[in-house]
Amino acid sequence: MPAPAADALPAYPTLLSPVRLGPLHLRNRLVMGSMHTRLPFGEGNPARLAAFYAERARGGVAMIITGGVAPNAAGRMEDGAAVLDSEDALSEHRQIVAAVHDADAAIVMQILHAGRYAKHAEAVGPSNISAPINPVKPRRLSGDEIENTINDYAKCAALAQAAGYDGVDVMGSEGYLINEFTARRTNDRSDAWGGSAANRMRLPVEIIRRMRARVGAAFAILYRISALDLVEDGATVDETLALARALQDAGADALSTGIGWHESRVPTIAYMVPRGAWRFAAARLKRAVTIPVVASNRINTPALAEDILRAGDADLIALARPLLADPAFVVKAQTGRASEITPCIACNQACLDHIFSDRAATCLVNPRAGRELDYISTAAIKVQRIAVAGAGAAGIVFTLTAAARGHHVTLFDAAPQVGGQLEIAQRIPGKQEFAALLAHYRDELTRLHVDVRLSTALTAEMVRSGHYDRVVVATGVVPRKPRIDGIDHRKVAWYPDVLNGAVEVGRRVAIIGAGAIAFDTAEFLTAEPGHGTAEEFHAAWGVETSGGTAGSLTGVPPLPSRREVHILQRSAGRPAARLGISTGWIVRTTLKRRNVAITTGCTYRRIDDAGLHYASGGENRLLEVDNVVICAGQESVSALAAALQSTGVAVDVIGGARNAVELDAQRAIDDGYRLGLAC
Ligand code: NAP
Ligand code: SF4
Repeated sequence: MPAPAADALPAYPTLLSPVRLGPLHLRNRLVMGSMHTRLPFGEGNPARLAAFYAERARGGVAMIITGGVAPNAAGRMEDGAAVLDSEDALSEHRQIVAAVHDADAAIVMQILHAGRYAKHAEAVGPSNISAPINPVKPRRLSGDEIENTINDYAKCAALAQAAGYDGVDVMGSEGYLINEFTARRTNDRSDAWGGSAANRMRLPVEIIRRMRARVGAAFAILYRISALDLVEDGATVDETLALARALQDAGADALSTGIGWHESRVPTIAYMVPRGAWRFAAARLKRAVTIPVVASNRINTPALAEDILRAGDADLIALARPLLADPAFVVKAQTGRASEITPCIACNQACLDHIFSDRAATCLVNPRAGRELDYISTAAIKVQRIAVAGAGAAGIVFTLTAAARGHHVTLFDAAPQVGGQLEIAQRIPGKQEFAALLAHYRDELTRLHVDVRLSTALTAEMVRSGHYDRVVVATGVVPRKPRIDGIDHRKVAWYPDVLNGAVEVGRRVAIIGAGAIAFDTAEFLTAEPGHGTAEEFHAAWGVETSGGTAGSLTGVPPLPSRREVHILQRSAGRPAARLGISTGWIVRTTLKRRNVAITTGCTYRRIDDAGLHYASGGENRLLEVDNVVICAGQESVSALAAALQSTGVAVDVIGGARNAVELDAQRAIDDGYRLGLAC
C-alpha cells in the first residue's frame, strides 16, 4: 500500500491522540493547567467561571484543572478565596462541572493549601518561618493538626467527587504548604514530619494514601510535584524522584509538574524564559515513574507540545496562559489552522499581574478571557466600509475584530510594515514572543482578506473620495521631545531609531527617562548576544540541570554588559514603577547585574560634545557619554481626527492616538477589540 501523502497525515498525531489517566480516558493529551482567575467559584454565582471553563472545553482540551480550592479555612489564600470543607458549596461546583462535561471534557479540582503564602492571620506551616514574599508569620502546626490537615485533604477530595469532578490535583509545588514540608528550607521540625527526606515527604504521601482510601479507584488523583524548587535548601533531584515514586505507590494516577517556588529568584514563566526551557525536568520524572507525567511552563505552540510528547519527555501537556490567549487552541491545531492560534506572549500583564493586584485575570492578546458573558461577537447588523489609519496593535485588533463580523475594512499605515510599537517591542532581547504575535496578526489579515495599504498615510482627501461609512484613527504615538538645551545635538538618539537599528550608538550611553521603555532600551543596549537557548538561559540564571544541588541552583555568574549605560529621571519616585509585578523584578535584576546605573532627582542642563550635563543632589555633573537616548514618554498623533471633522464621516479615535498617557499594548488591544465589537 502506498504511504499516505505527507499533508494527509494529522499535524500533531501524538498530541491529539487519546490517553488514559488513571480511571479517565482523555480525548487528547492537552489539559488546561490550573490558574487563579479571581472569577468567583461560588458566592452564589459561578456563571462566569463556568462560562470561562466551558469555552476552553469547547475549544478541545481534554481536561481542565481548576484554580486552587483550599481544603480548610487555614489553607485559603486570602479572605474570600475558595474553600471546600462542607457540602454547602456543592451546588455551585456542580454548575461548573456540568458546563465542562457538556462540552465533553473532564474536569479535576485542584486542592491547594496556601501554607505560609496565605495572606491572613491564620496562616500555618511546618515551621514558623515567614516567606520572603509574604510578611505574615505562619503558626507551626502541631502533630495533631497535621493529622487533621491530612484528613481535610481527603474530605475535600470526597466533596469534589460528590460535586461531580472527575478527580483532584493536589498542589504540592510552588512553595505552598506541602512543598514547605518537603524542603529543608522551610521545615525545621524534628518529629515524624521533619528531618530526614523520608519524614519530609511523609505529608504528601500520607495525603495521597488517605485520599485514595476515601475516594476509591474510579476517581483520578493527580499530584502537582515540584519538579525543580529553584530555591536555596530546596529538594535535591534524588529527593524529588524518591517522592515521585512514593506518590505513585501511594495511589497517585499522574504527576503534573510545577517549576520553581513563588519566592524563587529564577524566572520560570515570563517572556524571557525560552520556550520549552523546563522539559528536561518533566523528562527526568517520566523516567522515574510509570504513571503519566504532565509537562508545563513556557509551552505555547502545538508544534512544541508535539515535540515534547514525541521525544518521550512527557505524556501530557498542560497549557494555562495559552488557553487564556486562545481558548480554541486545540480545535485549531486539530483542523490544520495552527497559524490562527493567537499566541500567548508570556507577558503576564493581564493575567498574573491582575491577580497580584486584586483584579480578575484576563489576557492582553484576548480581552474576552474571563469576560465570556460580556464580550460576544455577532455578525454586523449593517455592513460598513471602514478605513483604519494606523496598523499598530489598536488598529490591527480593531480591523480583525470588525472584519470577522463582516465589515469591509481597509487598513492604512504610513510605514512599510504593520506593527507600530509591537514592531519595535519584538526587537528587545527576550521579547521575541511579540514577533510571533505579529506573524499571527499578518496571517489573520490575509485570512480575513483585509485590504492592507502600507507606505500609505490615510488623509482627509482620501476619506472624502473613498465613500467610507466610518474612519478609525489609530495613528499611535511619537516620542516626546523634551525641552533640553542641545536636544538636537548629534549625540542625541530617539529610542525607536535605536531599537529598529536605524541608529547605532556608542559604548557609553545615557538614557533620559526611566520608564518601561527606558528599561527595555537599556536591556537592548547591554544584552550580549546568545541568551536565547534554554542552555544559555539556565547558565545565566544559575539553574543546575544535571541534578545534585539542593534546589537545583548553582549560583548566578557575573552578567557581562556590552555598554556602560546610565538611566536618569527628574522625579524622585521609583523608576519604571509601572513595570509588571511579575516581570519587573526580572528586568531590574538583569540591569543591576549588568551594572546599569540609575539616577533619580536629576535636572538636565544641556547636551553637548562633552556629553550630558545635569544636576543632582545640589551638584553639577557631567556624564561623558557617546550618545544620549531619549525615552521621555510619548505624545498622541491624532491630527487626522481633527482634519476629518469636515468630512461628515463618523470618526473614532483609539489606542495611543486617543490617549498617550500610560499607553501600553494591553490598553491598545482592548480599545481596538471593544470598538471592533461595538461598530
Ligand atoms: P513612561 O513610563 O511614562 O516614562 C517616561 C519617562 O520619561 C519617565 O521616567 C519620566 O520621568 C520621563 N519624562 C517625562 N517627560 C519628560 C520630559 N519632558 N523631559 C525629560 N524626561 C521626561 O513612558 P514610557 O517608558 O515611554 O512607557 C510608555 C508606556 O509603555 C508605559 O505605560 C509603560 O508601562 C508601557 N510599557 C510597558 C512595558 C512592559 O514591559 N509592560 C514595556 C514598555 C512600555 P521624569 O518625568 O521624572 O523625568
Ligand atoms: Fe499570555 Fe500575556 Fe495573555 Fe497572560 S496576558 S495569557 S501572559 S498573553
